[in-house]
Amino acid sequence: MENILVIGGGLMGSSVAWKLADRGAKVTLFEQQGENYFKGSSFGTARISRSLGPKKDVFSHLHNKTVKEVAKLVDFLNEENTEQIHSMEDIYTNYPVTYLYHKKQRAAIDKLRFKKQKKFFNSASSHSAFRKFGMTLPDDTIVVRETKQYSGTLNPTELLQKLRTGIEKKNGTLKYGHQVVGLVKKDDFFEVSILNTNTNKIRKLKATKVIVAAGAYTVNILKAFAPYLNKIITPKRVPISFLKIADERYAQLTKIEKKTLYDSFPFFSRIGKEYFAMISKPAEDGSPIIKVGGHQIRRNIHDLERVWDEEPLKKELKWMKKQFRKHLKMLEIHLSKKEIETVTSYNCVYSETRKKTPIVTPIFNKHGILENGLYVVGGMSGIGAKGCLGYGVLASDLALGKENKPSKMYRKLIKTLANPAVNLHTKRIKPGRLF
Ligand SMILES: Cc1cc2nc3c(=O)[nH]c(=O)nc-3n(C[C@H](O)[C@H](O)[C@H](O)COP(=O)(O)OP(=O)(O)OC[C@H]3O[C@@H](n4cnc5c(N)ncnc54)[C@H](O)[C@@H]3O)c2cc1C
Repeated sequence: MENILVIGGGLMGSSVAWKLADRGAKVTLFEQQGENYFKGSSFGTARISRSLGPKKDVFSHLHNKTVKEVAKLVDFLNEENTEQIHSMEDIYTNYPVTYLYHKKQRAAIDKLRFKKQKKFFNSASSHSAFRKFGMTLPDDTIVVRETKQYSGTLNPTELLQKLRTGIEKKNGTLKYGHQVVGLVKKDDFFEVSILNTNTNKIRKLKATKVIVAAGAYTVNILKAFAPYLNKIITPKRVPISFLKIADERYAQLTKIEKKTLYDSFPFFSRIGKEYFAMISKPAEDGSPIIKVGGHQIRRNIHDLERVWDEEPLKKELKWMKKQFRKHLKMLEIHLSKKEIETVTSYNCVYSETRKKTPIVTPIFNKHGILENGLYVVGGMSGIGAKGCLGYGVLASDLALGKENKPSKMYRKLIKTLANPAVNLHTKRIKPGRLF
């Protein structure tokens, strides 16, 4: 049986490797970090998990698919190991998800209000927002709230752990501390050079199929094979802060204020710089820890290695605190600057495509020839986690072939996530797009 190599052990690589192993393939996953995962987009304990979208939206579909796939993984782990009980609640925490729109975006909101979605969807203008959600809104904004099972937050660390266990139980191999330092195409195979970061030795492996899911490092790994990719995928730095209301002030909040506070996270403002906030750690006695950030305050990166140790800029920290205070003001919870504490702040990294849409696709080599044995799962930006197993299923289908006849939605998915420069139908590069 051929050995399929997966490069990168974040949510994407682990999802692909799990689906490959689940379908009986022989799979080896290489991850440059040790078992303790901390330098990657998938680091942390909370991501917004949400499914609201227009009719036949591929990203809603990917979220829903992921929920189903997580349930299958949980069932499998429970069948395999009766000592630990696995549950969906280890990964998903149900909260209503609140979206803020400018009234100019009404057309986008109207697209969300279709029959199948109506029961999860509620909206309010500045007139009704306080009555409905305890929020005081500026006149020009509209609030939308999604209430659905498994919408709220998902915990990437827990999901990673379960995926890893699943891969090993299905006889897949996980190699931590193994960094891929070269990938070249020889006659009919790929030669992959792997550095063991403990021994400093490099070993060369042959593989007929390779899946690159290395997050922000993807372009670097493929630079000899497909140097043009740096025009399509760009690593970005995204600062985040973990904030809390000072314990003393939190203790003064009434029961109803605390409930309004909890109900208002996750919060996703689609106005301006797209501020997001979610509960990272619920309070046991004191105030909950809230993770905040903004997708439009992302920046380019000179040195991917150094960025993890660099502090976010002062103006970025200030902006995040200001948005937090503004959000709480909408809940009629008024805080002075001193009453907001920063628990920690750091830079995260993700990669973004030119079209801002993730890619799951075979790619062209530098001579313009489509390589069917080499697939990229990348450019996940700030939306990857909630759909990770959807992308994983798709990548495993690309590598192993799809079992069933593709549905309309599946074909839409393939088309949306195809390399923007690849016409999968004619298998040609669209002129002028790549070079
Ligand atoms: C601030 C922030 C907020 C986000 N918010 C949300 C959200 O609310 N909802 C949501 O759905 N998504 C969100 N996301 C997106 C989501 O977290 C990512 O899309 C997802 O984690 C990407 O996973 P990945 O596997 O592609 O990348 P990574 O997790 O970065 O995994 C890539 C892995 O490849 C490894 N690697 C790299 N190079 C090599 C090499 N040469 N050899 C071996 N291994 C290598 C790396 O060490 C890393 O572990 C957010 C992301 C960020 C950064």
